[in-house]
Amino acid sequence: MVKRNILLNPGPSTTTDTVKMAQVVPDICPREQEFVSLMKGLREDLVRIVHGNTDKYTSVLFCGSGTINIDVCLNSLLPQGKKILIVNNGAYSARAVEVCEYYGLDHINLEFPVDQLPDLDAVEKVLRENPDIALVHTTHNETGTGILNPIREIGALAHAYGAVFTVDTTSTYAMRPIDIEKDNIDFCMASAQKGLMAMTGLSFVIGNRAIIEQSKEYPRRSYYCNLYLQYHHFEKTGEMHFTPPVQTIYAAIQALKEYFEEGEEAKWARHTRVFEAIHRGLDELGFRDVIKREWQAGLVVSVIYPDDPNWDFDRIHDYCYERGFTIYPGKISGENTFRLCALGAIDEEDIVAFFQVLKKALEENHVRVPVQYTTIC
Ligand SMILES: *Cc1c(COP(=O)(O)O)cnc(C)c1O
Repeated sequence: MVKRNILLNPGPSTTTDTVKMAQVVPDICPREQEFVSLMKGLREDLVRIVHGNTDKYTSVLFCGSGTINIDVCLNSLLPQGKKILIVNNGAYSARAVEVCEYYGLDHINLEFPVDQLPDLDAVEKVLRENPDIALVHTTHNETGTGILNPIREIGALAHAYGAVFTVDTTSTYAMRPIDIEKDNIDFCMASAQKGLMAMTGLSFVIGNRAIIEQSKEYPRRSYYCNLYLQYHHFEKTGEMHFTPPVQTIYAAIQALKEYFEEGEEAKWARHTRVFEAIHRGLDELGFRDVIKREWQAGLVVSVIYPDDPNWDFDRIHDYCYERGFTIYPGKISGENTFRLCALGAIDEEDIVAFFQVLKKALEENHVRVPVQYTTIC
């Protein structure tokens, strides 16, 4: 038996023992046909999760954390002389802006406040005034705050102006139902340790084959992180261009099996149950959150630090951590927050147990309960 920890951080998430154990396999060279067939099934299943037709859409695997997907999509899918528009209302879209800066990609950083939804009229205005925008990128659930962005509407605008739409779905994929076609997505992405509840080290881009084929002609800005090169190698040989994360892939295959057994709807209902239990627990202790409740994606809650001289995030964290619960710092500059997330193989009773521990942590640290705020909101 492996000790079960409840991870309330935004990934890696709590995994089942069967997924953990799936990594213990006989040693195998990933160039063997046996492994190649496993990857074929895995790649198709990843497309099925977003209800994509596998003739039209494919998935391309990369060895790395989720950020590699942002890097790959932006550096590989921009034609010569064209521009990227980033619809940016949070830390993960800001990361995409940084990717553009590092590659020297021509881009427009259309920024909105982190606690607000993007203004679609402003997005359209930029598209209208910049006919050289060939790619629009945004984040589905901004994991830094937990806000859910209107990707279907942004995608429709991108397409109306002839641009490709890439979405960072790392913190919604395999949790919140996504339909790649209906949601107007050309490319989405995730990594195995979030919604799939598998292990770190495997990331994947899911997208339109025809656009990947076209990108063969685009400037090559990276070698290891080129989408077409990796896609082409998969199509030709069924293998990853370079060494895949072998044991991580076995875990991902087991996680997919468990995903389809649980079912999209039941899994989303479970995450919703967990999310609501988090809100109930926070409400009972008097905590306030950053994002309007109706705008939250249902997976991440960003909580404002109480105004109490005895509040010390690290001390509260350590108390919970020693008892098997991990809470996570915030990611909003200028505001002190921490995060509680509904990812992973956990359910309502784990959250109930967590709040008993959190309450004790507050009491033992002499933080007043219900927690106090000096500003009125
Ligand atoms: C987790 C996450 C990523 C990837 O972060 P890594 O630290 O590279 O794993 C990217 N985008 C979003 C929205 C995420 O939640």
